[in-house]
Amino acid sequence: MIRARHARIVATLGPASRAPDQVLALARAGVDVFRLNFSHGTHEDHAAALAAVRAAEERIERPLAILADLQGPKFRLGDFQGGRALIGPGSRLRLDLDPALGDSSRVCMPHPELFAALGPGAQLLLDDGKVRLKILACGADYADTEVVQGDYLSDHKGVALPGAVIELSPLTPKDREDLAFALRIGADWVALSFVQRAADMAELRRLVEGRAAVLAKIEKPAALKELRPILDLCDGVMVARGDLGVEMDPEEVPVAQKVIVRAARHRGLPVIVATQMLESMIHAAVPTRAEASDVANAVYEGADAVMLSAETASGEFPLEAVTMMNRIIERVERDPNWPGLMDAEHAWAEEGEADALVAAARRAAESGPTACLVVYTTTGTTARRLARERPLQPVLALTDRPEIARRLGLVWGIEPRVADTPKGLDHLTQVAGLMAASLGLAEANGRIWILAGTPFGSPGAANLLRLTHAPALSKK
Ligand code: PGA
Ligand code: MN
Repeated sequence: MIRARHARIVATLGPASRAPDQVLALARAGVDVFRLNFSHGTHEDHAAALAAVRAAEERIERPLAILADLQGPKFRLGDFQGGRALIGPGSRLRLDLDPALGDSSRVCMPHPELFAALGPGAQLLLDDGKVRLKILACGADYADTEVVQGDYLSDHKGVALPGAVIELSPLTPKDREDLAFALRIGADWVALSFVQRAADMAELRRLVEGRAAVLAKIEKPAALKELRPILDLCDGVMVARGDLGVEMDPEEVPVAQKVIVRAARHRGLPVIVATQMLESMIHAAVPTRAEASDVANAVYEGADAVMLSAETASGEFPLEAVTMMNRIIERVERDPNWPGLMDAEHAWAEEGEADALVAAARRAAESGPTACLVVYTTTGTTARRLARERPLQPVLALTDRPEIARRLGLVWGIEPRVADTPKGLDHLTQVAGLMAASLGLAEANGRIWILAGTPFGSPGAANLLRLTHAPALSKK
């Protein structure tokens, strides 16, 4: 099953979608990467969802990737008497470490590290910014605040300290357990939420030990300031617009999206644009025109993937949401203006032989009618470097490692398949031609450009670009 589009679809699994037949239907509708959101659900839920994805993968005969999304250090308030309290504008609210139930005048904030990061004049945002507090005075275990913007608050609402870098471990004890579990069941990608600095990704990398690819969710302004060093330690990145929009004004979010997508594309790192893409489809069978436009614009700017969250996890129309996303992407990619708009952000080859060769592969493919490109890749790096060039022809990526094929499911335009390590140049040429022909990527005699690295099967930069022509397949 070959997709007629380059941008990829990430869909979050949840109660509305994780049954095996639903997962299969979503994969058939176009999902490339399934996200397991460890902010919700039990380990059994996630294990069952993963098994459903692996079963669907066998049925549709193309690799499907699993992205395990760790909750990260999200701060929350304690609970209130009666489940909620009115935090009135202009009134005072005291925050402390006392676990007793709160009321309109005080509530527990069980995070000493947050108190340590507070100072007079700082602002705290509660419940995604619904309530805004200004710090009047504070110490190691309390803060007296003035309510700048008030509202009702219910139990266990989120707390954010905009702009601050907070001294804490990037992975909570829950994240560590979830990570160990996700790796044990075989997740292909691991995403870390609320990354603040490069050291956070270094810690994740250290724990993952190469068993999965790692992705940073950019959802703190602090992370934007340290974007380059963070990306240095990533295999992929997510523009997590939901939480990013809590600590930033709405008009800053599109600007941040452009900065992140561009930085990722320049490095050849897959980038996901996430959150509220088809939000109204949680309850409606069709999106708003603005949402359709948002998805389309992410595709025009060359993002690798667009993501569905509650739309597929808990919404009423998960299948319709995926189908709609697929239609929007396909439509953009039929627009004759799309390649030009996408190439406006084209990252020209970096110095170095590997990049020179992938750039040459794109040029070669454009030099005349080309059925497809075939890239042999051991670690996936050459396939990613080629995707960075955004060639418009289909790219068949062959690897002898199933886990690499799955990871490549997130990468723009890459059609990954598992194949044996070639025994030599003739064998490589023959296998590339046969696979391209049998997958329907090349008609008899269609031109195929092959990119590979010798010695075959060992990691290292590509050093070979070869032209071949697809064989005629004998009819059964
Ligand atoms: P979440 O991350 O869905 O895990 O919160 C995405 C976002 O914040 O946009
Ligand atoms: Mn988030």
